[in-house]
Amino acid sequence: MLSLLRKLLPKNGRATKKKSFCSFCRKSYQEVGPLVEGPNEVYICGQCVELCQSIIEQELYRHTKHEDSTSPGSETC
Ligand SMILES: [Zn+2]
Repeated sequence: MLSLLRKLLPKNGRATKKKSFCSFCRKSYQEVGPLVEGPNEVYICGQCVELCQSIIEQELYRHTKHEDSTSPGSETC
């Protein structure tokens, strides 16, 4: 009974498949832990999520900083 449940749960639930690996760093789920599943069998691990977050934050900061410096110049009417 228990083995049957264990077989069924990962299929029906959202548990990570054992074969899956991060699409960004190519590490397996056993190496980096649970993966977030995206469309078309795309996966991302926690490490890459953190990396992406820091990159996005940097980009946003750079973008807002850039906008601030250019806005006084673009205010010519
Ligand atoms: Zn990764």
